[in-house]
Amino acid sequence: MLRHIALCLSATVMLGCTSTSASISAKAAKNTPLYVVEAATIRYPNQARNAVSLTFDDGRASQVLVGTPILDKYQAKATFYVMAGAVNLQLARWQHAVANGHEIGNHTTSHLCTGNFQWLRDKNAGLEQVDLTWLRNDIEQNNQALKTALGVTPTAFAYPCGNTFVGRGLKTQSYVPLIAEMFDSGRTWLDETGNNPGYTDFAQLTGIRMDGLSFDEIKTILEQLRGNQSWLILAGHDVGEKGLYSVDQQALARLIEYLQDPANGYWLDTVSNVAKHLRAERTQPE
Ligand SMILES: [Zn+2]
Repeated sequence: MLRHIALCLSATVMLGCTSTSASISAKAAKNTPLYVVEAATIRYPNQARNAVSLTFDDGRASQVLVGTPILDKYQAKATFYVMAGAVNLQLARWQHAVANGHEIGNHTTSHLCTGNFQWLRDKNAGLEQVDLTWLRNDIEQNNQALKTALGVTPTAFAYPCGNTFVGRGLKTQSYVPLIAEMFDSGRTWLDETGNNPGYTDFAQLTGIRMDGLSFDEIKTILEQLRGNQSWLILAGHDVGEKGLYSVDQQALARLIEYLQDPANGYWLDTVSNVAKHLRAERTQPE
């Protein structure tokens, strides 16, 4: 902890550096960095300039019917944020994906989003109608079901629809602190920027859409956002034909080839592997 304080004082940009930091529990410190370090001090493996994670939401069947065969061909590892109910529809293939080293993250049991979505209005459901206790239980249930189905305990979470609240109006509460407590990371959705590796909050990692884009369009986005040694987390849903909620399978293959070419300066790994690396980098003496 003494080293943390010294680093805190030496950091060019400081956040939350107080004399009380020593009393903060190890768990809290893990989820809430006590300070911010300059992105320029962060190092990635193999002298890469950026980290990239490929992520897919919902546990859709096409992810293991079309997606993981492409990823496995290149030995690329992705993070899948899933509901156990969806996984159980293709259980053997998901077990195979886990055996091949892909990461399984939690995406809640009920996939509740804002009740403005018609499919939730039809069920008289929505994040506006629940509280943090309900949501914690919904998330814990999914963790338990995934442990049973796949033998893994997720350390990564993705907010369904990117929504991070419960309640409405004056009674609205953020559930980001709940995710910071329960997981090593949480990813949002439809963000416009990457994650500054020295600054980003692991409980609100940004996610950039890769659904519906060609390889060239995805490459252009990566090039635009790769400043500050950003960690770029791409997010999609189905894999197959290009669509509003579907990653083009040819684009995915070309993207992996591009990211794995050392000349392009990217480190491709799962969300939890990159998060773990960055946490360690943030505590390295300069
Ligand atoms: Zn989702």
